[in-house]
Amino acid sequence: YAKKSGRNTFAFYEQHMDEEAQRTLSIEHDLRSALDGNQLRLVYQPQISADNGKITAIEALLRWDHPLDGPIPPDEFIPHAEETGLIIPIGRWVMAEACKAAKAIQDLGLPPIKVCVNLSTRQFDDPALISHIEEAIETSGLDPRWLELEITESMLMRDMSTAIDILNSIKQKGISLAIDDFGTGYSSLSYLKKMPVDLLKIDRSFLQDIPSDRDNMAITSTIIAMTKQLGLSVVAEGVENQAQMAFLNRNQCTLMQGYLISQPVSLTQFTSNYTDCQHFCGACNLDKTCDK
Ligand code: C2E
Ligand code: MG
Ligand code: MG
Ligand code: MG
Repeated sequence: YAKKSGRNTFAFYEQHMDEEAQRTLSIEHDLRSALDGNQLRLVYQPQISADNGKITAIEALLRWDHPLDGPIPPDEFIPHAEETGLIIPIGRWVMAEACKAAKAIQDLGLPPIKVCVNLSTRQFDDPALISHIEEAIETSGLDPRWLELEITESMLMRDMSTAIDILNSIKQKGISLAIDDFGTGYSSLSYLKKMPVDLLKIDRSFLQDIPSDRDNMAITSTIIAMTKQLGLSVVAEGVENQAQMAFLNRNQCTLMQGYLISQPVSLTQFTSNYTDCQHFCGACNLDKTCDK
């Protein structure tokens, strides 16, 4: 009896694993055709300077238009791209495409802005990362000081000295480095000062319910104050309303990004908005020409 039940249990797991494997295989197949079949595209979300409302950067955000399932958000497919390793060719494409976009904006005679590219853990660990960055820079002709790479705390916390080496070799190229979703990881603050990074992006969860959530206000203002002390720049992510913006201004947050300023938009849309107006002044919301 025991033997039989054991065998059934095994059969169950075998079937279960089979389904898992099947699912992974089909996602892998779909993701591969997404990359080869032009189903991936980038949208760009501007960041503004709190001082004068000028656009300083755009963040490249990946979109997948699945032929049957429609648009799939990155939080759903990037984990699979990570698992299957397809994030390497996908990330390479993103980097090249984003650098081309920043260069195209400059070539139109518009004021240069940075382009920010999200890196995944697997890309960060890939020995070919530096050569993929070089390739994107060389092919696009973008001056590397207009490129910013976004990493997360978890990438830094595993092997500090290796991480520092990678970051240094990126920085040596004149590229900037940002820590994304700051405050959600477990980075030790004493290690932060050893990291050759330029900027922290305060995770948007801390902006929620400002100005009613006192804890979030305390965390946000503390992160901003800390960046000042450490000589880092700071971006608030997920700015959705005037109350949050006013709070950030009172606390001297230098850069802001969020739906209040602009949703992520196509390069064509961004270029057209940016041609009309290089500011966010509340009134134009990047949609119309303002008189600034
Ligand atoms: P992230 O890097 O933290 O990007 C910010 C996310 O917040 C984006 O979601 C953006 O659309 C969203 N967002 C911006 N402003 C607001 C706001 O005011 N309110 C709210 N509720 N959300 C806002 P998205 O585009 O869905 O991307 C999700 C995540 O997927 C990104 O988070 C990033 O970690 C990852 N991702 C996106 N593109 C890439 C990529 O090319 N490569 C890699 N490795 N990861 C990417
Ligand atoms: Mg990001
Ligand atoms: Mg991110
Ligand atoms: Mg973020």
